[in-house]
Amino acid sequence: MNLTYSAEYERFRTDVRRFLAEHWGESGGAAADTIADLTGASVRTDARATAFRLLAIERGYLYRHVPRRYGGAEQPPDPLKSAIIAEEFRRARAPFEIVGQGPSMLVPTLLEHGTEAQKDRFIRDTLLGTVRWCQGYSEPGAGSDLASLRTRAVLDGGHWVVNGQKIWTSNAQDADWMFALVRTEPEKPRHDGLSYFLIDMNTPGIDVRPLRQMTGDADFNEVFLENVRVPEDSVVGRRGQGWVVSRSTLKHERALIGGAHLTRRTFDGLVMLAQALERDGRPAIQDPVIRNRLVELEARLVAAEHHGHRLLTMSARGTEAGLASLVTKLYSTVLGYDIAKLAMDVAGDRGLLAPGEASAPAMGMFGLAYMWSLGVLIAGGAANIQRNIIAERGLGLPRDSRK
Ligand SMILES: Cc1cc2nc3c(=O)[nH]c(=O)nc-3n(C[C@H](O)[C@H](O)[C@H](O)COP(=O)(O)OP(=O)(O)OC[C@H]3O[C@@H](n4cnc5c(N)ncnc54)[C@H](O)[C@@H]3O)c2cc1C
Repeated sequence: MNLTYSAEYERFRTDVRRFLAEHWGESGGAAADTIADLTGASVRTDARATAFRLLAIERGYLYRHVPRRYGGAEQPPDPLKSAIIAEEFRRARAPFEIVGQGPSMLVPTLLEHGTEAQKDRFIRDTLLGTVRWCQGYSEPGAGSDLASLRTRAVLDGGHWVVNGQKIWTSNAQDADWMFALVRTEPEKPRHDGLSYFLIDMNTPGIDVRPLRQMTGDADFNEVFLENVRVPEDSVVGRRGQGWVVSRSTLKHERALIGGAHLTRRTFDGLVMLAQALERDGRPAIQDPVIRNRLVELEARLVAAEHHGHRLLTMSARGTEAGLASLVTKLYSTVLGYDIAKLAMDVAGDRGLLAPGEASAPAMGMFGLAYMWSLGVLIAGGAANIQRNIIAERGLGLPRDSRK
């Protein structure tokens, strides 16, 4: 396999570098570079970052898959150009595409199922991070078995009246809007009775209560909805078709969680940690057991990265990825967990110090990465559910006996 870039692509790289040097500068300030990138929580959206993003969109570098009329760059799919742009923006620490529930999950869903008015109203502001979203799917008693959800909406004049409770709603405390799955046809079979709503979080009757998690932060929330009045045209797709629309969002959520770049960042950090910390009187990286585990993990990581390139190529060619896309989330999250676990072993007792502790190796970031890795094994569909999906939809094995 030849993984070098042709002269045409190297010229493209030079153009991107020139653009970055001119408009951001090598030391233009640190773009967010943490685990919280995945939720979009820590990404820079100040005036300078926004002005830069607009320029980068204009040049065709960011949001290449989104039509210009909705605020994207509208470029022909080219996985190699996308990879070069990502590499160069990361190197220059320049604001990149905002990753998170709004830009990465809702925007593609709206492009697929939204009305013109919904696309006009939301896509541009969501891509720039000026409208922030949370995802209202899970409920107490409806997680893996999402179709059993009970939050209901009833039509009353020109409004839906929503009542119920959502749980594990990441970033609801900061969100302007929520995309939510709600039961509108209680008399229909479970999957046919749901609709996909866009709900303004400032509407009276919404109560957001934080849930403290083991990292010490409170990124999750319970969201209570009591007689929340939502305009009739807030449904994405047709009434009762919410399940189909929500599958589109979930597909993008799994691709987001399964992306290899965060895993690569954690792995590179682990290598630095093993170089810096001592074990039995020598750098941990010289310990044959640690070396062996590192090599095994790196091989799996390189496989995940090539798998990502393969999926990009299939998508650029319009080929249905099938089984190849179904394995991504499980593979990547199990790998992320194994990397974080090795980091904890390398860090030893001091790895248990709280995140932010000055005497913890790498300020306790690996403890955080470890706890986070447990969460992403569950988020967007737990690992066992992914195994069921791979078995049933990917390999055609008999259905889970519990359904
Ligand atoms: C970090 C994180 C962020 C999240 N963010 C959001 C969010 O923003 N919005 C939102 O709506 N939800 C969010 N969630 C919730 C998430 O979608 C649910 O936790 C997930 O779907 C699992 O549901 P549950 O917690 O009810 O567990 P359950 O469904 O009760 O599952 C418990 C265990 O049983 C296993 N299990 C269940 N059914 C089967 C089966 N049929 N076969 C085999 N094993 C099974 C599961 O694998 C799991 O191990 C988030 C969760 C996490 C961890």
